[in-house]
Amino acid sequence: MAFWFARGVRRGVVTTRYPKAPEPVGSTFPTPPAFRPGLLTPQLAEALESACPSRALWREGALLLFDLGRCTTCGECARVAPEAVRPSGVFELATREPSRLVKGIPIAAVRR
Ligand code: SF4
Repeated sequence: MAFWFARGVRRGVVTTRYPKAPEPVGSTFPTPPAFRPGLLTPQLAEALESACPSRALWREGALLLFDLGRCTTCGECARVAPEAVRPSGVFELATREPSRLVKGIPIAAVRR
């Protein structure tokens, strides 16, 4: 840390470039979920809404809404519905508009 601080003071650089290569430690981080819409039934959507401790998931009509800004990457949703939810492996995310963090996942129609 002291090295980077001293180097920044010497060169007058206060920021650094973004890494060119993916961060290797990223593969071990817990990451937000990715959903498989074709396998997301209404029952699973309700189970996911109930299971999410941070209320990042909620159902609105034929959509399961997912707020990435609320997700704590606890992994509970992937435990509840492993067939429809898996860790995304993506942890780099930024926006200036919080509403862009809310995603709508279509819920599959139930066939009778
Ligand atoms: S990882 Fe946890 S906080 Fe994020 S959506 Fe799933 S249950 Fe909710």
